[in-house]
Amino acid sequence: MNKKLKIFLISLIIIILLSVIIITTLKLLKNNQNNEETSSYSATAVTIMKELNLYDEINNKAYSKTIEVLLENNNLEPQYLDEYYQINYTNITNFSTIINNLLAKNYNSDEINYITKNMIDDINILLSMNYIDILAFKDISNFDINNIDRYLNYQEENKDYDLATVVTYVNIGLDKEGYSEYTEYTEEEAQNDLTILVNKYHKLPDDYEPNDLVALSYNSNYYLRKEAADAFERLTNAGVLEGVIFYPFSPYRSYKTQEVLYNRYVARDGVKAADTYSARPGFSEHQLGLAVDVRSSNLPDNLTPEHYEWMLNNSYKYGFIVRYPKGCQHITQFIEEPWHLRYLGVELATKVHDSGLTYDEYYDLYIKETQD
Ligand SMILES: [Zn+2]
Repeated sequence: MNKKLKIFLISLIIIILLSVIIITTLKLLKNNQNNEETSSYSATAVTIMKELNLYDEINNKAYSKTIEVLLENNNLEPQYLDEYYQINYTNITNFSTIINNLLAKNYNSDEINYITKNMIDDINILLSMNYIDILAFKDISNFDINNIDRYLNYQEENKDYDLATVVTYVNIGLDKEGYSEYTEYTEEEAQNDLTILVNKYHKLPDDYEPNDLVALSYNSNYYLRKEAADAFERLTNAGVLEGVIFYPFSPYRSYKTQEVLYNRYVARDGVKAADTYSARPGFSEHQLGLAVDVRSSNLPDNLTPEHYEWMLNNSYKYGFIVRYPKGCQHITQFIEEPWHLRYLGVELATKVHDSGLTYDEYYDLYIKETQD
């Protein structure tokens, strides 16, 4: 009895095991024969991949949304098949056309993933151009796609500059002759924004005059805007306490005054030389009422090296920066002017001082509104 039961049970187990093996094998065979039904792709996609004779090749690999969308739009180009698998699908209009266009321009999948994720608003600019090494710009915060041609040209002419420098200098306008192209502020902008950048690429309106000029205590014919005038008093007082005695000698200047001054310099030294040390009318910070030239008590129109050093290290505490420091002529477009101070307010002047940048650079990197 016991032995019979044992044999019966063993036979039963063997039969069950065999059945399982047979069913599984049949199922696998069936799947291999009809794998259309198990494809992860949509019916439309499957139809197209069959037309392209890519059914097996595509289904033997992991599902890709990118591949599916390309197929569904009938945009899949077999020569890019490997790249497609590396490209992340993003839900953007004309996704498949865009990536084909980029691939045709020799962008690789890393670059395409970066572009579709970060630069889709500028895609038409990119598509209108030949291939550029776009990833080289990805960490440059002030990169502006609209200037890309200028960056590439400027880089070609200045191979010793790194790309971040190229971007900033071109944004400032340095790839073009000063005064050749400039933006002109409105009177409102000039009046309301104490941080405004004035240089050979940014002009004030001819008839702009600040509405809050006040006389300096040193000389009742010397004017600055109220806030700058108050700060200047604090600066001079601080100097006195530290034995650094200096006086203003040229504060606010109207457009007309600047015109007379500049023309006099041109008559004396010629345009080219005059442009290195005197701004053309409309392009002077003095017209802002936020700039003042200072001299040491024993000099007619300059600071002693010691006073200049003090100014570099202290003026920011009172809201002023030395606007045209040494070694920056290629950026500021003006020779070193130890005497020329620009008021920015304590907070901004401190940041500019700490950055070690000229105001032209600082403005482009941290203040200028990004273009839409
Ligand atoms: Zn000046």
